Amino acid sequence: MNTQQEILASLRSRAGELAALSRQIWGRPETAFEEVFAARTLAGYLAEQGFSVRENIGGLSTAFSASWGKGKPVVAFLGEYDALPGLSQKAGEAVRQAVVPGGAGHGCGHNLLGVGAAGAAVAVKEHLAAAGLPGTVVFFGCPAEEQGAGKAVMAGAGAFDGVDACFTWHPDTRNCVVGTPSLANIILRARFRGKASHAAAAPELGRSALDACELMNVGANYLREHVDSAVRFHYAYTDCGGGSPNTVPATAELLYYVRASRIAQARETAERLRSIARGAALMTETKLTWRVECEMLDYIPNDALSRILDRALRDAGGPVFDEQDRRSAAAYGLAEEPLDGTVGPYVLSPVCRSVSTDVGNVSQLVPTAQLFTACFAKSTPFHSWQATAQAAAPAAVKGMLAAAGALALAGAALMDDPVLLDGVKKEHGERV
Ligand SMILES: [Zn+2]
Repeated sequence: MNTQQEILASLRSRAGELAALSRQIWGRPETAFEEVFAARTLAGYLAEQGFSVRENIGGLSTAFSASWGKGKPVVAFLGEYDALPGLSQKAGEAVRQAVVPGGAGHGCGHNLLGVGAAGAAVAVKEHLAAAGLPGTVVFFGCPAEEQGAGKAVMAGAGAFDGVDACFTWHPDTRNCVVGTPSLANIILRARFRGKASHAAAAPELGRSALDACELMNVGANYLREHVDSAVRFHYAYTDCGGGSPNTVPATAELLYYVRASRIAQARETAERLRSIARGAALMTETKLTWRVECEMLDYIPNDALSRILDRALRDAGGPVFDEQDRRSAAAYGLAEEPLDGTVGPYVLSPVCRSVSTDVGNVSQLVPTAQLFTACFAKSTPFHSWQATAQAAAPAAVKGMLAAAGALALAGAALMDDPVLLDGVKKEHGERV
């Protein structure tokens, strides 16, 4: 067996334990910053494999790193494990049926994401040990990708300092290395405080925080005409002031996501929205509290590193699905060829995907590459109960193992030939 075959064989020998880990995390869905079981499970697994675990990164109790080896190069894998609220769904059930009504569920497949990246880290460690090579492999346990940008906090705490290259992946409906940037996203809250009063008996004494929210949204919707076409913002009422029309709402709050192709543009848009919020407060004689919760920076793909990952994905191959996998996937509304086992082309493109991720924060510090593998039936919407149902299926595990194989081969390639990092770093210096 050559080196690559040995790495893939070592991963195959762990397929059962990795599948079990992903299923355990799927069965205990935890939302942002509360991923205690998932973080403990993954940190425990890596400690058993000989990794040194560092917990509480950046003061986040569910953020950790696990490292093995010595010296350079330092190659890292990013893992996520947070679930989404309201997406509880029975495994493999193609009609809506929650395990816990209203409960959380792995509707983005992060139960697979963390485990797949951890599997790759272990495979690279085994390769380093077998070959007696210098180098350090690190797994970063990253909480709250969906709500809160855990990696931004970890980056602020210097977690990624000294890392030469980062790899990650995401469950998808196709298999390819990601060559597109993602949108920067600023998550912020506008809270208004007014004065309660009886809405009929003494309306003149009341100052409505709900009115302020509504006026802010009207202003924001007029702003849409005067922003770049890549700018997107959307809002939700997180406090509508109560359910009683005969009380003037004393408090109300909006949650805004402000997205743009670069973080500077998102910041500029957020400032314009702040002016609108101030105007709304002025009009309604309410007080505004403005709070930026987090910033997800735009993802910058490193082309040289992405090409190494693309080579690795082709060498490892896409997931091999069987008839049973296809039959199960077809139940989600797609008849012919519901699962994609082919490896698609890698194309570096300046056109942003209309999504945001805190992997962007890492990509601006460290050369980063990421890939998708097919874990879900084609056309499965992300953040859906359909994705939760499929994230525990055997097909999803096959997708996860394909990702782990590709990530491990890419990591091992850098360990075997650190000179590859020269081009990767040169590009990073020029683009960031
Ligand atoms: Zn996700």
